[in-house]
Amino acid sequence: MKTAIVTGGASGIGLAVAERLRSQGYSVGTIDLTSTGDDPLAQAADVTDRAQVDTAFAAIREALGPITILVNAAGVDGFQKFTRLGFDEWYKVIDVNLNGVFHTIQAALPDMLEAQWGRIVNISSSSAHSGQPYMAHYVSAKSAVNGLTKSLALELGPQGITVNAVPPGFVDTPMLRTAEGRKLLGGTVEEHIQRTPVRRVGRPEDIAAACAFLISEDAGYITGQILGVNGGRNT
Ligand code: NAP
Repeated sequence: MKTAIVTGGASGIGLAVAERLRSQGYSVGTIDLTSTGDDPLAQAADVTDRAQVDTAFAAIREALGPITILVNAAGVDGFQKFTRLGFDEWYKVIDVNLNGVFHTIQAALPDMLEAQWGRIVNISSSSAHSGQPYMAHYVSAKSAVNGLTKSLALELGPQGITVNAVPPGFVDTPMLRTAEGRKLLGGTVEEHIQRTPVRRVGRPEDIAAACAFLISEDAGYITGQILGVNGGRNT
């Protein structure tokens, strides 16, 4: 029985990934900023805080055993004209989306190295392919996650660990609908659908399906890849 940790596993894409992996028989723990109840498999931790990340990993490891699968879905968006973008706002978006991935991968690696087997999937963003006005901080962080993915794939391949990224396009989650409600998307979701080749918004389950494949045994020869799941936008 393999054990996975999904960050951001209480909402949107991460939630769909956690549910998909559970349905396939994986043991799954989640890490989110806020988490209700005292379920040891649903840890509250800030991915930007290494001590909190280490504590959450230890609790899930204690409950489920060594962690050999990691899906990094925790993230925050950000919208600001670059001339008005303060360093604090820049840094917060970089901190969660990039430094958070640094911390969780480092926390997961000892178990993977011990097992000489591991799967890491980082949820980046299709905006890293195209760029996006008013999202310089977010796009910078997600582009760096793609670069981190490629570098670690080379470094960790000899130890049986694959590292891939899935950059979603528009996926119907609380993050997307909040941005739509604040009129930050440059149009409604419906208008974006008309510019999407497959003519629908992405579903969290679309991303979960790609993650499930990338962590499977069948995907053992696939590493360092940026697998766009975006209905044909920004490919
Ligand atoms: P979401 O519904 O807002 O979920 C984000 C999750 O991340 C939440 O569970 C949140 O926890 C968690 N999180 C945020 N900051 C955190 C922190 N500092 N420490 C720990 N957990 C934290 O968003 P989503 O749309 O599913 O996004 C998932 C990932 O996909 C993100 O990395 C996002 O950038 C990426 N993405 C999404 C889209 C899209 O169209 N939806 C497109 C491209 C990329 P709490 O709920 O406890 O705050």
